[in-house]
Amino acid sequence: KLFNELQELKGNIRVFCRVRPFLPGQGAPNTVVEYVGEDGELVVTNPTRPGKDGLRQFKFNKVYSPTATQADVFSDIRPLVRSALDGYNVCIFAYGQTGSGKTYTMTGPDGASEEDWGVNYRALNDLFKISQSRKGNISYEVGVQMVEIYNEQILSIFLFIACGAILFVFLDLHTLGILSTTQQNGLAVPDASMYPVTSTSDVITLMDIGLQNRAVGCTALNERSSRSHSIVTVHVRGKDMKTGSVLYGNLHLVDLAGSERVDRSEVTGDRLREAQHINKSLSSLGDVIFSLASKNAHVPYRNSKLTQILQSSLGGRAKTLMFVQLNPDAISYSESMSTLKFAERVS
Ligand code: ADP
Ligand code: MG
Repeated sequence: KLFNELQELKGNIRVFCRVRPFLPGQGAPNTVVEYVGEDGELVVTNPTRPGKDGLRQFKFNKVYSPTATQADVFSDIRPLVRSALDGYNVCIFAYGQTGSGKTYTMTGPDGASEEDWGVNYRALNDLFKISQSRKGNISYEVGVQMVEIYNEQILSIFLFIACGAILFVFLDLHTLGILSTTQQNGLAVPDASMYPVTSTSDVITLMDIGLQNRAVGCTALNERSSRSHSIVTVHVRGKDMKTGSVLYGNLHLVDLAGSERVDRSEVTGDRLREAQHINKSLSSLGDVIFSLASKNAHVPYRNSKLTQILQSSLGGRAKTLMFVQLNPDAISYSESMSTLKFAERVS
């Protein structure tokens, strides 16, 4: 409801800001980011300029206090998630520096119980429930795909599973009959594997394996997980049983690489190359969303793999939501400000 109401007011791009709480064991809270109220206000204080001078106020479609639960967050975006079943293309991003809670919002904490599930699990669970309940009227096929973009290369996370001696029957995009949706994405995803799923638990098993694989399967992957973009895509094909007409929708759930700026004088080689790629793709994403929000005639999708893959789901009838993630502490002040400036530009 929130999303639809907002949408009528202001186009298709929403920005929700989430401030993570202080973590257990973190020193005396020296809070910089202050949550203000229900109506999307946030106040940030500059720790080196106390008083009114150092105050900056931001306004977004929604600001979550650090006490907001995963269920609170999901209840606001449920309608958006469900619109994939009605043939919409939906993108949900988490943007912010490493440690700001992107993965917490999108996936949940490590070993999350159902209560701590992030958007990914809740969305899939919800889509299955709804698609089951519409059985008889609309017959849905739902496929899930996970890819990672690292150094401007697209990798299939499921392909790693195949390498890891766990056997799955991988069906390719033709077999699932949803190739046309994928082609519209403007870019063929070379090694991406699709796995047909018929229940939430199928998906959760797959996602857990994919995510674990990404997180711990191999040290190199673990180290670079904050330096790659991870995209879980739910492809939906619905056939109306009465009229025979077919609709396609998809939902992209994107845990972006950490947005922190890297000091060029301190890194070299691989690390510098990674930083440049991240910088390029995040700024391309910002440019695309900014162009869409400004209704520019030219939208620069071609500048990064991220925006190429998501092209059909950004703009047009597509719906976009950006979670802007913030650390509450004083040390993060300058990163928080650059995150907020990014968010301001695209909102
Ligand atoms: P990122 O993916 O942006 O690097 P994480 O999601 O890994 O950040 O979050 C960093 C740490 O903060 C993790 O230990 C995570 O469980 C914790 N955390 C993040 N957001 C919250 C939250 N809203 N409530 C409780 N803990 C959180
Ligand atoms: Mg993360």
